[in-house]
Amino acid sequence: MAGTKALLMLENFIDGKFLPCSSYIDSYDPSTGEVYCRVPNSGKDEIEAAVKAAREAFPGWSSRSPQERSRVLNQVADLLEQSLEEFAQAESKDQGKTLALARTMDIPRSVQNFRFFASSILHHTSECTQMDHLGCMHYTVRAAVGVAGLISPWNLPLYLLTWKIAPAMAAGNTVIAKPSELTSVTAWMLCKLLDKAGVPSGVVNIVFGTGPRVGEALVSHPEVPLISFTGSQPTAERITQLSAPHCKKLSLELGGKNPAIIFEDANLDECIPATVRSSFANQGEICLCTSRIFVQKSIYSEFLKRFVEATRKWKVGIPSDPLVSMGALISKAHLEKVRSYIKRALAEGAHIWCGEGVDKLSLPARNQAGYFMLPTVITDIKDESCCMMEEIFGPVTCVVPFDSEEEVIERANNVKYGLAATVWSSNVGRVHRVAKKLQSGLVWTNCWLIRELNLPFGGMKSSGIGREGAKDSYDFFTEIKTITVKY
Ligand code: NAD
Repeated sequence: MAGTKALLMLENFIDGKFLPCSSYIDSYDPSTGEVYCRVPNSGKDEIEAAVKAAREAFPGWSSRSPQERSRVLNQVADLLEQSLEEFAQAESKDQGKTLALARTMDIPRSVQNFRFFASSILHHTSECTQMDHLGCMHYTVRAAVGVAGLISPWNLPLYLLTWKIAPAMAAGNTVIAKPSELTSVTAWMLCKLLDKAGVPSGVVNIVFGTGPRVGEALVSHPEVPLISFTGSQPTAERITQLSAPHCKKLSLELGGKNPAIIFEDANLDECIPATVRSSFANQGEICLCTSRIFVQKSIYSEFLKRFVEATRKWKVGIPSDPLVSMGALISKAHLEKVRSYIKRALAEGAHIWCGEGVDKLSLPARNQAGYFMLPTVITDIKDESCCMMEEIFGPVTCVVPFDSEEEVIERANNVKYGLAATVWSSNVGRVHRVAKKLQSGLVWTNCWLIRELNLPFGGMKSSGIGREGAKDSYDFFTEIKTITVKY
């Protein structure tokens, strides 16, 4: 139930104007379980209006020079940076993540997304080749595609939304974005900066609401020729079906079941804190989080003891507390889903070393109904268990032993996903050998989550289609044409 405080009311942002909606959905503060915000429950009509605005804005925006567009993106970045604290507070309240993480990762990275694409758009070149014997030359040109449909999830709300909006705009497209209905606040706040930054009306439209209603209206609209989606694999299946009749360009960034492989020659002093972080950062709600830890038998007992000790120090509490490492999970339904995996593991005879059902979580009275859980470590579990095969997307990780390099590569690859992996070893040859054989779009060795935005980001197998990054995003958000000139 809503408290006595007035609820925050969001509005759609279409054609440079904030517009109310005929119906709304409740949005909860994950740290208290209370409704604190109402999000427009948009549908087909709002998408029609947004498509009209985005189509009208397209000729003007796409014909601006890259330098002009770059200047506007840099303005957005500057304004966002000036409001960093306000955005970080809002992101933490809306998503449940710690304020410290929103301050140091989510919002700074959102600023960086605009700056990065403002810069990279200035440095693309095209190809040219000659056929002297036929007296002709060929060259390529790239042009913006049109109205880009961008759909993002709830785990890194502004970070992932701007990772799509910035490259789409930089390349000259106009945009209709739909953030997750669970975390819409910072996207709405961003709209307030756009006009000030000089973004013309209709270039960026943000339409709020649920996937089945407004998401599907966007995906199936014939005048939205490309969809960039980050979210779950089942939703990607639906989006693929809906866009197939229109032959849309699709970029799909999906889930993972990411392994960490820890060899006996790993530096455990570095590996253990990094693996605690890779398992539980952002409540384990990062697509790149580790959820299967394979440890070589000779160091298994030592690793497990130290890993559990370090996990127990990973404090859970109210997101604004500077001493906590983990805040609340996104929703009650998600918390229940994550807990259900632990019940299933127990039913299969697994052992829970710490966390859910083992340790007690103490919370202030006003946060008792929040969606908190302790980081949980599972052992004695089979590779075929759902906890080892399915994406849990919460603070739960499984630790299992292995014998040989060949064996662990096969077991690590034995899931439908292929997003990210980490390898820990001080043997340089082994690190390269294993990295090459892992079926994974990203492999971190002796580290985790160090990103170079120029390089391709994305997954293989059921973790997605396409890559994002300087060149990859540019390729996706433009159409290429080959021109032949006979001389
Ligand atoms: P989700 O698929 O439920 O929702 C993602 C977005 O799609 C939301 O905006 C949602 O409203 C929308 N949506 C839902 N149904 C839709 C439909 N039928 N048509 C159009 N849009 C629809 O995912 P989620 O629960 O928000 O996010 C968690 C998932 O995202 C996890 O699987 C996680 O691994 C993945 N993820 C992947 C990456 C990556 O870069 N690979 C990054 C972050 C999250």
